[in-house]
Amino acid sequence: MNSENAGFNSRQVHAGEFNDALGSATVPIYQTSTFKFKNADHGAACFSGESDGYIYTRLGNPTIGALEDAVANLERGFAGIATSSGMAAITTVYLAFLGAGKHIVSHNSLYGPARGVMETIFSKFGVEYSYIDTTDLDQVRKAIRPETAMIYTETPANPTMGITDLRALAKIAHEINVPLVVDNTFCSPYLQRPIELGADVVVHSMTKFINGHADIVAGMIVSANVKLHKMLKHVMTNMGPNMDPHQAYMVHRGLKTLGLRIDRAQESARKIADYLENHPKVEWVKYPGLKSHPQYELAKTQMDGPGSMLSFELKGGLASGKRMMDSVKLILLAVSLGGVESLIQHPASMTHSKISHEKKLAANITDGLVRLSIGIEDVEDIMADLDQALEKV
Ligand SMILES: *Cc1c(COP(=O)(O)O)cnc(C)c1O
Repeated sequence: MNSENAGFNSRQVHAGEFNDALGSATVPIYQTSTFKFKNADHGAACFSGESDGYIYTRLGNPTIGALEDAVANLERGFAGIATSSGMAAITTVYLAFLGAGKHIVSHNSLYGPARGVMETIFSKFGVEYSYIDTTDLDQVRKAIRPETAMIYTETPANPTMGITDLRALAKIAHEINVPLVVDNTFCSPYLQRPIELGADVVVHSMTKFINGHADIVAGMIVSANVKLHKMLKHVMTNMGPNMDPHQAYMVHRGLKTLGLRIDRAQESARKIADYLENHPKVEWVKYPGLKSHPQYELAKTQMDGPGSMLSFELKGGLASGKRMMDSVKLILLAVSLGGVESLIQHPASMTHSKISHEKKLAANITDGLVRLSIGIEDVEDIMADLDQALEKV
């Protein structure tokens, strides 16, 4: 199968599959570091590129390749590059497009370490950065410099759930001839395909929705064209943040139920968002499926559904947030997201605790902000757990 016209659920099951000599129904785990050449000529042809035979697993492996093909197909991109983690995908992209004197324009509300590595590591090599709110295109235009070499965003943003207009942002990036890179972890290709909206590169923490079972850390880069793919592949194969074949097999197994899992979690998230919005101890809820979300209309034009991530502000700030974290029973108090199990976390005391108070406020990360990742449990049970925990706040 690889019909371009097949539906998403058919492609998530079959894209990337290949026929082996034994007729395996699933892609086998080629748990090998290296591959035997048939003879000296074959070895030479593999290295020169005349043969597409495998050489060494850092450079390519059939099990990893199957997953790369599958995710690239679902994202409607040219090709995928699997990495050991989501951060490995992000840093590979930074390394490919940035360097001394180059500048990145990026979102101020995004996965913490994606900003942290820029401020504490890439800055040592002379890379410059501007963290602004990419949901406001005027701020993007103002931040651009002659040295700008990449625009980077995450939508919906972590943890504020702000929506960036990807079509408009792609237009700005292309006017100045730089790639737009989008972290699509929160949506997965089931709900949003940034390349179709004009983005050049998509990154994923497959640790989250794509694998979906909270048992693997993994990343993926998908490029829109061969030129970008080659630049990224050069960095990945030389720096070595590659995936392992067993890891690829596990993620591919999870991928096959992506749409089913998201449909279920999203249906529950809609109900939970309504419930929280009407709860007296909740100040506000940010969920792209609620009419009260400031970019509700925009979300509908670029996402196929509001997803299963939401954040809300508890009345009473830090103390209330911590009290709620201590009171949940079914919902796991844990970072990460996008798994079959519901998770709750409190950015002010957890994921974003190392960011200064001013920077947090600038990025709208308030003290009572709670982030929920809705899983596939029965919605009545998730709601009952939230209810009893809010009772104790
Ligand atoms: C988790 C996450 C990452 C980092 O991925 P790892 O697999 O943990 O390295 C990047 N972006 C987003 C949006 C994430 O949620």
